[in-house]
Amino acid sequence: PQVIFSGIQPTGVPHIGNYLGALQQWVKLQDEASPKTTLLFSIVDLHAITVNQNPRQLRNACHQMLAALLAVGLDPKRSIIFFQSDVDAHEKLMWILSCRAQMGNLSRMTQWKASSKLNLSDNAPPVEALLNTELELGLYSYPVLQAADVLVHRATHVPVGHDQAQHLEFARKCARTFNHRYGTIFQLPETILSPAKRVMSLTQPHLKMSKSHQDPRSRILISDSTEEIAQKVKTALTDSNSGVSYDPVKRPGVSNLIEIMHHSRADGASCEDIARDCENLTMRAFKEQVAKCIDEHLGEIRQRYEELVGKEKEGYLREVAESGAMRARESAAKTMHLVRDAVGLGGFQ
Ligand code: ATP
Ligand code: MG
Repeated sequence: PQVIFSGIQPTGVPHIGNYLGALQQWVKLQDEASPKTTLLFSIVDLHAITVNQNPRQLRNACHQMLAALLAVGLDPKRSIIFFQSDVDAHEKLMWILSCRAQMGNLSRMTQWKASSKLNLSDNAPPVEALLNTELELGLYSYPVLQAADVLVHRATHVPVGHDQAQHLEFARKCARTFNHRYGTIFQLPETILSPAKRVMSLTQPHLKMSKSHQDPRSRILISDSTEEIAQKVKTALTDSNSGVSYDPVKRPGVSNLIEIMHHSRADGASCEDIARDCENLTMRAFKEQVAKCIDEHLGEIRQRYEELVGKEKEGYLREVAESGAMRARESAAKTMHLVRDAVGLGGFQ
């Protein structure tokens, strides 16, 4: 049977990149899944602390993320929604996988380089060079935790954005290494990329849109008001060419807006269709259309989100988290039983 797993860090309210690239896909998979499919979606708080977090803000962001997942349409009756740190097996399996994971493979991951404050070039530095840096262990090794997140539930499919594809390749490597050494326990999880796999920043369109980027104008949040959306799209970096055309290489800013519009519209208009329709518009008029389109798409989600973050819904969110944690612990316990036995851990089974 299929097991679908994915995670999101509680590092802020999700932006349209998270929504179009991941969350919308999660909801679609949930709504179209056969009754035999297990779906697990985790708020990965242990990943969030790989960079320094203010404890109160982190707790708040955890609540916001749970509200956001429900607002976009995840159904706690159908999907297991849980906080990663509520399920100890994730960390236990991480340790076991780390014992076989190779530093060389980790040094080739690109994501921690993007998050670390260190000024490292794109060429993976030799591991020895890292020993002289202040790079923190958790940031370096978190792909192993991510592999454990997926493998501990023996996921068959993992829907993520493009930036996570490399980590999933690493998770498959961890699974193969383990299976080879101890016998086949893990399935090799397949990556599912959504059509909007890489939504770019509004202010720096060569970078992906991120929750943690310091500039709040670089992203549109699912909670943003009509005015905030209009303002952010208006100040999005484009270019001084006249008219609208779709050319991701030469016109990354404009093309990103076209892509956002394409993925937000339900009518199936392609990026080329949209560019043709908007060809003669001024940049200002084009941006107004983009903002309107995003606002229409997010309207209902924003409304549900506002209700769910209200004080009176706190009890409900707690119930969702507790029942999700219980079900996720059961799912992980089955795998850990097999893993402990295969590795020979503990005196008795
Ligand atoms: P942070 O900056 O804190 O890492 P983030 O925006 O990168 O936040 P994550 O929690 O790391 O979000 O990732 C959650 C999911 O959203 C992942 O599946 C990731 O691939 C996807 N995702 C993140 N950013 C984008 C983007 N710009 N376009 C498409 N998908 C994205
Ligand atoms: Mg990220």
